[in-house]
Amino acid sequence: MPNTPDLGFLNAPSDRASSLRSNEKWVKEKLNDPRSKVIVFVGDRPAIDVSGENLTIDFRQTVTCGQLASWPDPLLVHIDGQQCAVFATQLPAEAENSIVSADTKLIDLRSLAMQDCLPVGQTGMLAQAKSILHWHQYHQFCANCGTQTQTCDAGSRRLCPSCERNHFPRVDPVVIMLVQHEEKILMGRGIHFTQGHFSALAGFVEPGETIEEATRRETFEETGIKIGKVEYLMSQPWPFPSTLMIGVLAQATSTTIELDKDELAEARWFDLAEIQTMVHNNHPQGLSLPPPMTIAYQMIKKLYPQL
Ligand SMILES: [Zn+2]
Repeated sequence: MPNTPDLGFLNAPSDRASSLRSNEKWVKEKLNDPRSKVIVFVGDRPAIDVSGENLTIDFRQTVTCGQLASWPDPLLVHIDGQQCAVFATQLPAEAENSIVSADTKLIDLRSLAMQDCLPVGQTGMLAQAKSILHWHQYHQFCANCGTQTQTCDAGSRRLCPSCERNHFPRVDPVVIMLVQHEEKILMGRGIHFTQGHFSALAGFVEPGETIEEATRRETFEETGIKIGKVEYLMSQPWPFPSTLMIGVLAQATSTTIELDKDELAEARWFDLAEIQTMVHNNHPQGLSLPPPMTIAYQMIKKLYPQL
């Protein structure tokens, strides 16, 4: 397997100021600190500085943004190594002309991760910001009583002023499994995938399930294959809108496929030689795998280090 970029959307800075962000005075100071920065999204695309040799997030100053009445309240993303606060805000699509310039473009997250063109940690930072902004956009009202809720703790909570119920950002767990039998792995082509494009099976974890149970249920529902042992391999945040992909290696105890045609257009077993041609884009029928920034590709790389 050729040298490849790493898994996308990882390495977001870990200091989310959890002990400080509920302190309104501290948040206000950070918003007025000229060293504080804002990641600006227009719709679901971030502003990227394209002026230099390498792309980077086009951070704006919070103090400059705050002077513009039309800017929504920014949400705290993290504190960086120099103790500077990094916020994120989302502008409506109509704001595109006021943000885009010769030096600044709006680029979608999937493209940025596929090209692996940002400094280490920046796709992770953008993934975190995009997921939290999306949650605020679509969770404006209390699920208990319908009252409009208020942003708290610099964006890590919403509070209902009527029934006082707290609402927290959600993350949706998905299992994604490399199903193995002897030297072969099972992959499928979803009904919305392009012709010839195969990937690992995946599905949402349902209430009351363990990761192992979700893996066995999803694999059986989609392909009729029975699963025994399940081992954790790796995980990936997937900000479309806020999923955690949990990658596992699942050992099949049966091999006859019975396809769920509502979910999959095709599913079949692949041996090492065939996977190798897919990795190098020279499969005789043009079959392909997901790009290197995806967990499906990186799990295959981990399972077959000789590729
Ligand atoms: Zn309420």
